Amino acid sequence: MSDIEIPESHPRYQSLLTRHRIEEGVENGITSKQGLIAQGRGEAFDYLLGERTIPSADEAERVAAAYLLLADHPVISVNGNVAALCPEEMVELAEAVGADLEVNLFNRTDERMEAIVSHLREHGAEEVKGLTADGRIPGLDHERAKVDSDGIGSADVVVVPLEDGDRAEALGEMGKTELVIDLNPMSRSAQTATVPIVDNVIRALPNMTKHARDLNGASREELEAIIDAFDAEAALEAAERAIRGGDID
Ligand code: ATP
Repeated sequence: MSDIEIPESHPRYQSLLTRHRIEEGVENGITSKQGLIAQGRGEAFDYLLGERTIPSADEAERVAAAYLLLADHPVISVNGNVAALCPEEMVELAEAVGADLEVNLFNRTDERMEAIVSHLREHGAEEVKGLTADGRIPGLDHERAKVDSDGIGSADVVVVPLEDGDRAEALGEMGKTELVIDLNPMSRSAQTATVPIVDNVIRALPNMTKHARDLNGASREELEAIIDAFDAEAALEAAERAIRGGDID
C-alpha cells in the first residue's frame, strides 16, 4: 500500500504518517484536495497542543462515550479525511457502541462516495450508509444537505469529526446531539457542539472506544451523571489555554 518508509524513531513519526495517509487518500479518490488544506490546519493546531490528548479532551471523549451508550440511534459521520486516516478505528467505535456509519461529504461525488464505502468495507464495516441520500438537512444547499433518512436523518446522537461549520450548525438546529472532533476550539463546529472534542481524530476515536468499553456495564444513572458534570464551554476554554501555552487542566 505504502511506498514510503517512515522510521518509527523519527520525532515526527505520527505527524508524517498522518500526512502520508491523507496523500494516499487523495491518490485513491477517497480524500478531496480540499481535504489536504483541512489536514494542514489540523496539523498546526495539533502542533500547538503538543500532539497529545489534553486532559479536558480525554474527559470529553469519556462524555461522548456516555452519550453514545445512552443513544437510541447513534450515527458516526465519515468524511474523506477520516476515512483515509482511521477507517478501522471508526469501525471499532461503531461496533463498541452499536452505531451506524454514514458517509457524508462536503464535496459529494458518486465516485468518492463509493470509494469511501468500499474502503470502509475493506476495513471491516458491514453496513455503510450514505448512498441512499433520501433525507435532507434543512437550511443547506442541495448537495450538502443529503443524508440517509434512516441514518443521520433519524439519529439522535451524531459523531461529527472534522465537520464544516455550516453543516454542524444545521445539524444542531435539527436537535441532534453533536459530538464534534475538531482540533480547532474556535471553529464553528466546535463552538456548536454538545460535546466539543479538541483532539486529533486519530487519538480521539480509539480513546472514545476505550471509554465506551470501560463504561459498558455502567447504569443509565451513572452515564447521565457523567454527562451532567460536563461543561462544554469550560472544555473549549481549557483547549484554548493549552494552545496559548497556559495550564492544561
Ligand atoms: P468552521 O467550522 O470554522 O467553519 P471550516 O469549515 O473552515 O471550519 P475546514 O477548513 O473544513 O473547517 O477544516 C476542518 C477542521 O478540521 C479544521 O478546524 C481543522 O483544525 C480540523 N482538523 C483537520 N484535521 C484534523 C484531525 N486529524 N483531527 C481533528 N481535527 C482536524
